[in-house]
Amino acid sequence: MSASQRYYYCGLKSHADDCIGVNCVCGRIVTAGYLSYENCKKSFDVNQYHPNVYDAINRAVLLRKSYHGETRPIYEFNPYTSMDKLIFKLIHLHTYDFEWFDFHDVQTTRVFQISLSVDSEKIQIVVKNISTITQIITQDFLVLFDIQGSPQEISERVVLQDSEDYVCSLSIADVVKFNSYCLGIKVITNHYLITEIPI
Ligand SMILES: [Zn+2]
Repeated sequence: MSASQRYYYCGLKSHADDCIGVNCVCGRIVTAGYLSYENCKKSFDVNQYHPNVYDAINRAVLLRKSYHGETRPIYEFNPYTSMDKLIFKLIHLHTYDFEWFDFHDVQTTRVFQISLSVDSEKIQIVVKNISTITQIITQDFLVLFDIQGSPQEISERVVLQDSEDYVCSLSIADVVKFNSYCLGIKVITNHYLITEIPI
């Protein structure tokens, strides 16, 4: 192994060549105490970053809410971030597969078409059976996720004939009380389409 291929695990002060974060990013992360090496591998577990990461996600949401109603393009806002969506996906990668979508874009799964709308009192979710046979919606089909990624079921168990609609109405007061980060539509177990609630 040549010297350039050797891993030094900087920041542990376990060898003479430890740069203590002067020359490498890993060394800087470990020396500053942000994270430690995961299972003696040169990788980091993002979950170690709790709970600060949730505060950061919260602030990102508040920032976007402060721009609510603005019609200027995103690149004109300073600051602006949607990095929390990627971080949220990464944190939960071992449990869930999250796919972000825009609240106003109609979503289609194998058997359902789902459209969302919002007014000052409620969020309305219309689920249409687009298959040719009867389908069952389960309680966990629609969920609210809080910032920690805990789901709260919001749909009911409903039997839908072909091309029949199920309308789920959710009061804004409940959404605020639960402190929702996003709304999820279950595609299959542990795989959700998720969207930010525009309130
Ligand atoms: Zn180093």
